[in-house]
Amino acid sequence: MIPGSFEYFAPTALDEALSLLQEHGDDAKVLAGGHSLIPTMKLRLAEPAVIIDIGRIGSLKGISESGGKLVIGALTTHHELESSDLVQQRVPVLAQTASEIGDVQVRNKGTIGGSLAHADPAADWPATILALDADLQITGPNGERTVKATDFFQGLYETDLGDDEILTAIHVSIPDANTKGTYLKLHQVASGFALTGVAVVLTKSGDTCQSVSVGITGVSDAPYRASGVESALTGAALTADNIAAAAARAADGITALEDIHASQAYRQNLAQVYTRRAIESAAS
Ligand SMILES: Cc1cc2nc3c(=O)[nH]c(=O)nc-3n(C[C@H](O)[C@H](O)[C@H](O)COP(=O)(O)OP(=O)(O)OC[C@H]3O[C@@H](n4cnc5c(N)ncnc54)[C@H](O)[C@@H]3O)c2cc1C
Repeated sequence: MIPGSFEYFAPTALDEALSLLQEHGDDAKVLAGGHSLIPTMKLRLAEPAVIIDIGRIGSLKGISESGGKLVIGALTTHHELESSDLVQQRVPVLAQTASEIGDVQVRNKGTIGGSLAHADPAADWPATILALDADLQITGPNGERTVKATDFFQGLYETDLGDDEILTAIHVSIPDANTKGTYLKLHQVASGFALTGVAVVLTKSGDTCQSVSVGITGVSDAPYRASGVESALTGAALTADNIAAAAARAADGITALEDIHASQAYRQNLAQVYTRRAIESAAS
């Protein structure tokens, strides 16, 4: 449980961090809250020769509102999102998701950017970021670019981020008054990670579902939007039968994970049950 030796840098500006990443290439790893990277290094699953600690880069921190969006710095901790008045007022499902992550220590150190960049298949943030159709702001040697959450997650611990890029911020549109979000999760008892986590963002028009987006984590090797559920429910009356029929499609086209914690069939069933419950909650 002792990591290999490494060279340590603690830049205070984004440009400096990007230069270090370019200089050291594949040998380097960015360190944010360290709550995924350091355990991986202790197990020697990762042995970076260079650590670039971005924790002192002020421009990557904080939550602000601009042009109808929340702009969340990548270094914002889970706890800051959970406890922010701005987040609770504007996009409460973000605060709800943060509150479901790990324990107090994990939430105090772990960052939203680190979680998204790490892309653990059982992490909570990806489900909610997908359901909110967020934009991820990335900076690299060629400047800045923005990627839709749906294009960001590419597989098991795989994202659209290049080795020489840093995720700098997450942009989330502030939903209108007819829109409600919810995140429901079944915790794996030992680790607290999601055996299944379902985020739903639903807009009602009277008793009809005007639009719905569903992000699911923990079920497959990568988080996904449950498009079958979304198309089945959009435009439909929000009756118990319609919600159940739509939720039954939560694992359509998905190869569910199978491991010591849950079988494929159990995970598929969890996806359906938690999707139904999350839609019922968002529609209430
Ligand atoms: C005991 C325990 C329980 C946990 N329970 C949960 C849980 O229930 N749900 C959950 O979702 N998570 C859980 N986690 C994980 C936790 O949320 C981590 O904090 C998170 O996954 C990673 O964030 P970090 O800031 O610690 O990133 P780090 O560990 O510092 O980095 C993780 C990876 O992302 C890269 N990276 C970090 N930031 C950036 C960036 N801005 N740009 C580019 N690359 C970057 C790093 O190079 C590294 O590869 C748990 C962790 C522990 C230790």
